[in-house]
Amino acid sequence: MSALDTQIGGEEKLSTHLLNPQTQQWIESNVTRIPFAGCWVWNKSECVRGGYGQVGYCTYGTNKAHRLSYVAFKGDCRGLLVCHECDNPACVNPEHLFLGTSMTNHLDMVKKGRGNYARAARKMRKLTDQQVREIRASKLTQLQLAEIYGVSGGAIGHARRKQQYKEVV
Ligand SMILES: [Zn+2]
Repeated sequence: MSALDTQIGGEEKLSTHLLNPQTQQWIESNVTRIPFAGCWVWNKSECVRGGYGQVGYCTYGTNKAHRLSYVAFKGDCRGLLVCHECDNPACVNPEHLFLGTSMTNHLDMVKKGRGNYARAARKMRKLTDQQVREIRASKLTQLQLAEIYGVSGGAIGHARRKQQYKEVV
């Protein structure tokens, strides 16, 4: 689950009338079954941001294939997240899908270690934009700057050479 999935579309119009064999067959005819893992990887259209399979919003009232699959095979998911046991956002196998709130999704993320990755990624960014500008303008050595800003010499070098903080101008 990425953060994207925590955004339950306020305008989502998924309806339980999609719980029927026709929709189920349509879904099954548009997946690639992965041996062993058992995932049904959506292959009808390109995956949207976050790696979720995409379906036509006008027809189904959602643009996320895994949410459509949940409704088609299991039933209502309105107001709740559809989470992946298999951790594969493109998977629409109803057996791999479970309902959750943003809290259970968060706990699931922590359990699987992704919350830690997110924290680690944030930690990587230690300097403010202003500090990066000061470092780039400074004539001090890498080690002096590292001491001043409380980061490693490597971090200063990266900032100076724009290997990091590329967006800071
Ligand atoms: Zn799966």
